[in-house]
Amino acid sequence: MTFELTSLLKRAVQLHGPDRAAIHGTRQRTWAETADRSARLAGALQALGMEPGAPVAILAHASDRYLEYLWGVLWGGGVLDPMNTRHARPEIAYCLNDSRARILLIDDAFATMAPALRADAPSLASLIWIGDGPAPDGMLDYEALVAQAAPAQDARRRNDDLAGIFYTGGTTGQAKGVMLSHTNLLTAVIVGYGTRMVAEGSSLLHTMPLFHLSGIVTLLSATGRGNCNLLPPRFEPGETLRLIGQHRPASLVLAPTMLQMLLDHPAFAQTDMSSVETVTYGASPMPETLLRRAIAVLPGTCGFVQAYGMTETSAAVTLLGREDHDPDAPTSHRLRSAGRVVPVSEIRIVGPDGEDLPRGQAGEIAARGPNVMLGYLNKPEETARALRDGWMHTGDGGYMDEDGYIYVVDRIKDMIVSGGENVYSVEVEAAISRFPAVALCAVVGIPHPKWGEAVHAIVQLKPGASATAEAIIAHCREQIAGYKCPRSIDIRTEPLPLTAAGKIQKNVLRAPFWEGYTRRVN
Ligand code: ATP
Ligand code: MG
Repeated sequence: MTFELTSLLKRAVQLHGPDRAAIHGTRQRTWAETADRSARLAGALQALGMEPGAPVAILAHASDRYLEYLWGVLWGGGVLDPMNTRHARPEIAYCLNDSRARILLIDDAFATMAPALRADAPSLASLIWIGDGPAPDGMLDYEALVAQAAPAQDARRRNDDLAGIFYTGGTTGQAKGVMLSHTNLLTAVIVGYGTRMVAEGSSLLHTMPLFHLSGIVTLLSATGRGNCNLLPPRFEPGETLRLIGQHRPASLVLAPTMLQMLLDHPAFAQTDMSSVETVTYGASPMPETLLRRAIAVLPGTCGFVQAYGMTETSAAVTLLGREDHDPDAPTSHRLRSAGRVVPVSEIRIVGPDGEDLPRGQAGEIAARGPNVMLGYLNKPEETARALRDGWMHTGDGGYMDEDGYIYVVDRIKDMIVSGGENVYSVEVEAAISRFPAVALCAVVGIPHPKWGEAVHAIVQLKPGASATAEAIIAHCREQIAGYKCPRSIDIRTEPLPLTAAGKIQKNVLRAPFWEGYTRRVN
């Protein structure tokens, strides 16, 4: 027997055929329609030359058609190849050339880029228009293709066959194409089913971008459970709150910065959040203050689940379940942790020479299991560096406590070495975010003639709030050791730069300080 992703779609049709699968603006589809249209899309893609194992790219915001793309490609035996909607044209061209996609699905937001992409990525043979209105010249019309094509048979790929190429978030540099197999993705789905996140048949509001692996895994899992997927094109806090009020979803999946924006939004207080049973969060460190605030202001019936992982581990390698989110429990220090290893995987904390470190001591988090990637596309050296004996070296620093809970201390690249002491930017950010006027903050190392690096903070204040650098530094001194406190603070009212997955782009904030210098890690 093989592990087949398409069994998730078959189950949705069998158990939830007439139920709603997707809501996008005024468009709605049932699971029966979604499966039928996906099989027809698979037929159309095959007619356009999609061979088994061939990548099919998409450059579009979330929609019901994105869901059909996901299932159409998998049903027809192709490979998912979603493009990052925040990338600039040269970066998209890089990814298209890297994966050698021949077919690209594209929507309104990217229509003007299409001619240049054709020129930049000569392997592209067909562009399929999934936007509203008639297809621009030279593009195939999605609705016409789906209407005319005969449904394909389920291609029934094998466990280790490539299912998708997913580009990493690009938070720390050039995005890398992560090759994930059918087993990898199905493992990610099953891991999620082991934790109570979303009830069968209930509805789920997607805020993570669908090109990001967390968005894809959420959609795959939602299919197996026959959930109704609310698919707004992109995250916008006011619109998200409006959709919660209108459609009353049971589940939200968010990055911490998105949660912060929802809670700080003027419409939050008027929004009825009583339908929300689970908030799943991850993608970057969750400040404890923000988590406690969310637990306090969301209805008592709402549970929280944290996922820690990366594209290379098919999303979660650790989960912090609902039971560990009681803010008054004697174990409430676990609110700072990313939880425990998921059942099918193993985690080690390794030192610089690959040795196992004792509990409580920070080193690099390494993970092994059926969710670890096949490798990076076209990057054998990076693959060999990251994957050793089946262990994925995450580039994240962390430790494991006596009870097996993992605490992510910092990305190794973001750690600051100041006067020979290691300073974890995440710890300093947690201290700063306890200052009431602060909305978001990022801590980076900047060059210093004596200490090598100095701790510098960039702080975004809440709307209408005011604060001085001196007051924030004094507040930090009460919470963390002097050498960890910021030496300088840049206070801003404009938003910090975020990736599409809601991560603060520390490399963008750090870069101007390092012009003419070489940093120990980039
Ligand atoms: P790139 O690798 O291109 O720089 P990226 O690492 O942001 O981008 P992803 O694979 O989307 O790309 O993100 C994985 C990383 O996100 C992890 O390695 C970790 O640093 C961070 N992360 C994910 N979940 C959590 C979490 N729950 N707590 C802390 N950090 C997290
Ligand atoms: Mg990464």
